[in-house]
Amino acid sequence: MAYDPQNIFAKILRGEIPCIKLYEDEHTLSFMDIMPQADGHALVIPKEGAETLLELSDDSAAACIKTAKKVAAAVKKAMDAPGIVIFQLNGAAAGQTVPHYHVHVLPSSLGAMGKGHASKMEDQAKLQAIAEKIRAAF
Ligand code: AMP
Repeated sequence: MAYDPQNIFAKILRGEIPCIKLYEDEHTLSFMDIMPQADGHALVIPKEGAETLLELSDDSAAACIKTAKKVAAAVKKAMDAPGIVIFQLNGAAAGQTVPHYHVHVLPSSLGAMGKGHASKMEDQAKLQAIAEKIRAAF
């Protein structure tokens, strides 16, 4: 399917809607997930417009995994997490709800995956406080 430049993450990249930013470089942006599956749930997106990994350039894919590794280290430290889950969904049939490629980074421990996927809006002040801790851990 053709990439839709009106998707919510494209709007975040253009600064049309806000996000709670954790990290940014030339090719990627990382911010807090607003419906987290666990405290400290972060997202990493490429600046390139692509819906899934299959359309994304190799360079952007590499940039995303490099940023995901940085963010994972900060999330692990800030949240004192025993483990980190990194996942990403490709296509609505796989459960992808936002059609701009992204990597999920979240703290986890065995058997405690936490809340449902994109199910409940988190309190903004709580997200800001967690983001502050993560940014301090880079
Ligand atoms: P997926 O279902 O893999 O496409 O994941 C999309 C993720 O984006 C979900 O975890 C949502 O909670 C999250 N999300 C949706 N809208 C926003 C937004 N405006 N800012 C931050 N995260 C969002």
